[in-house]
Amino acid sequence: FSRPRVIMAVQSNVISVAPILTKLKEDCATPLPVLRHLAAAMASVMRAGLAVDGGSDLPMIPSYVDALPTGNEKGLFYALDLGGTNFRVLRVQLGGKEERVIATEFEQVSIPPELMFGTSEELFDFIASVLAKFAEKEGGEFNLPDCQTREIGFTFSFPVKQTSVDSGILIKWTKGFAVSGTAGKDVVACLNEAMQRQGLNMRVSALVNDTVGTLAGARYWDDDVMVAVILGTGTNACYVERKDAIPKLQSHNSTSGGMIINTEWGAFSNGLPLTEFDREMDADSINPGEQIFEKTISGMYLGEIVRRVLLKMARASELFGDSISEKLLTPFMLRTPDICAMQQDTSEDLEVVGTILLDVVGVSSNASARQIVVEVCDTIAKRGGRLAGAGIVGILEKMEEDSEGLIFGKRTVVAMDGGLYEHYPQYRTYLQEAVQELLGPQTSTNIVIEHTKDGSGIGAALLAAANSKYGHHF
Ligand code: BGC
Ligand code: MG
Repeated sequence: FSRPRVIMAVQSNVISVAPILTKLKEDCATPLPVLRHLAAAMASVMRAGLAVDGGSDLPMIPSYVDALPTGNEKGLFYALDLGGTNFRVLRVQLGGKEERVIATEFEQVSIPPELMFGTSEELFDFIASVLAKFAEKEGGEFNLPDCQTREIGFTFSFPVKQTSVDSGILIKWTKGFAVSGTAGKDVVACLNEAMQRQGLNMRVSALVNDTVGTLAGARYWDDDVMVAVILGTGTNACYVERKDAIPKLQSHNSTSGGMIINTEWGAFSNGLPLTEFDREMDADSINPGEQIFEKTISGMYLGEIVRRVLLKMARASELFGDSISEKLLTPFMLRTPDICAMQQDTSEDLEVVGTILLDVVGVSSNASARQIVVEVCDTIAKRGGRLAGAGIVGILEKMEEDSEGLIFGKRTVVAMDGGLYEHYPQYRTYLQEAVQELLGPQTSTNIVIEHTKDGSGIGAALLAAANSKYGHHF
């Protein structure tokens, strides 16, 4: 008796949802010509950003890292990593060319959410207190006389205008951080003050972005690493630039050699395929108008975009029955790991999808509704992965144009880190496909995207060693 009615209900769902889905797919489309255009746009805003400060959307920040790890680094070094949701402390005993990494130890804590909205002092006091506890437990294979100042590589994964390799001013917070009183200040000074309050005998010898740490960490093992990309909560890329191709760095113009440039590509915005959902999410965010590329491709936002699409669908139809749950109305309720998990569901009735929809956004669903949800997830992941791929190719093309064959004509490694790339197989595949489509089969074989997990910690420690204030350690 009830069977025909169920089918009718399903069909009416599909009918009123279909135009929304179709429109979404059109707005998110990333055919090859669009990707080509974006890669070229990325290359050109990179140039404009290198010419003068404020020359384009991309800050193109000189890192003052002009010597990459060689393998000869020796001694005990610490690293701090403040990025998205976690804070890590690490120590490493480096043994030089032969022995390399003798020992390493780390600890990770999640940042209490209230600190993301607190004051600068509270945040840096927290960091220094975790570091103090960790430093107390030094021993075993780690050795340096007690009286000697410990040197730190500080990975700080936000846009910082560097003034030297060991100082830099926070331009703005990203990734949902809204700590008051840090923007415009030297973050190394903030940390030093907090370490003094803890009575710690430590100093920052290198301040690096996470992309820069990742590049350095990967280069330690592989001389062909030229680019590093983070695809996690946020996103960014850095690469090795020729100093004479950085007009705005006048004092270094005459010197030869290279320097790592932190592009802060999350700020890219030219010609992106955006939807009404992206625009609304941006308008509601704590940094409207900023980090548009990041908001389109990175882990913090993909789940939220999907939630907004599902909410519109639920309002326009009976996709999830006739009521709209409180959770579906709640921003950031659906997270990227959830949409990733839904896309891995291979069961016939999409049971995992059903469970996640029920548990996470509080709605019940039938098989056809679940199918639509998966298509929405796929549309958003596909756009994100392909746009990220186009960004990478944009950087490589810029480097190639300036170096004639030194990038595409030989093995070139892009070091990649971040949970989104690591844990979302469809996203990763879409990214790789876009890179291959753009570069063509021949060049593609020379470009290696290599996952270098947690390389930024060791990388920062290596850069602290390379920029040590105390000469060689034994
Ligand atoms: C920050 C970058 C960082 C990236 C990845 C972005 O939000 O602006 O500095 O490298 O996230 O962590
Ligand atoms: Mg990180």
